[in-house]
Amino acid sequence: MNNKTLTIIKPKALSDNCAGKILSTINANGFRIQAMRMMRLTRPQAEAFYSVHKDRPFFHDLVEFMTSGPIIAAILEKENAVEEYRKLIGSTNPDEAADETIRAMCGTNIQMNAVHGSDSDENAEQEANFFFSYAERF
Ligand code: GDP
Repeated sequence: MNNKTLTIIKPKALSDNCAGKILSTINANGFRIQAMRMMRLTRPQAEAFYSVHKDRPFFHDLVEFMTSGPIIAAILEKENAVEEYRKLIGSTNPDEAADETIRAMCGTNIQMNAVHGSDSDENAEQEANFFFSYAERF
């Protein structure tokens, strides 16, 4: 079991002014923010981050969307962080996400679903390294 996960507040949630609500929900649910940055992903960065989906029909649209505006990336710390955060964000499709989850509150549709959350400890480690050096973690 790991104690960290990587989240991204996606462009539409940011442009909808939902970032404050998402960050306060994260803190209210016992996650500590270890690192955080607002940035705009380049196309190669978005393609690399989602490379596991490169053969999926939605890959092109997903990369377009993720590069369409700024995001906030953060490393979150909590015991059993990956699983706990997946519970807090809800299903991939906001229409199917339980009430009170971040995707139900701030998601628009299956693509613009407010946030990313790592799906395994191994991916959390890789994704944290993708965005943050050790000097940027507190
Ligand atoms: P997650 O782990 O819940 O984020 O879901 P996945 O790893 O399956 O997909 C990664 C991201 O791709 C999702 O968060 C969505 O932004 C997007 N996505 C997943 N499925 C679809 C789909 O069927 N259509 C579109 N347009 N985007 C999708």
